[in-house]
Amino acid sequence: MHELAVTRDILNIALKHAALSEAQKIITISLRIGELHDIIEEWIQRYFDYTSRNTVAEGAKIKITRLPVVVKCEDCHASYPINIREIESSVCPNCGKDRTHIISGRELIIEEAEFGTGEDLKIMILSVPEGDDKILKYPLMFTVSDLDH
Ligand SMILES: [Zn+2]
Repeated sequence: MHELAVTRDILNIALKHAALSEAQKIITISLRIGELHDIIEEWIQRYFDYTSRNTVAEGAKIKITRLPVVVKCEDCHASYPINIREIESSVCPNCGKDRTHIISGRELIIEEAEFGTGEDLKIMILSVPEGDDKILKYPLMFTVSDLDH
């Protein structure tokens, strides 16, 4: 059960960026989670509601998009998304061989957060590249953009 730890990390990252942009409120946080990630989506919102109490993130809505598993063919190096249920029996659509390895599907990315800064609404993009070894990495870069352009 690592949802609580993951949720705390998400909250901390969101709060850090909210502070940087002097946000008074966090409205939504968008996550992209690989289909192989064993997170239970309902718990994220539930834990978030709990851990974000008395912060600017209180009441924020967590939006989750699942990302397909992508494998790479060992023979022809083509990469392609596969159905998670066919992971054992998939063959390369390019060359027909079945030696593949997974290149993505376990990631957890904080894609963006929507902040309220008084009268303005800002979207912050927080894309995080991910390796297989860690469930969540801290954002290396972010950009800020106003909603109305
Ligand atoms: Zn191939």
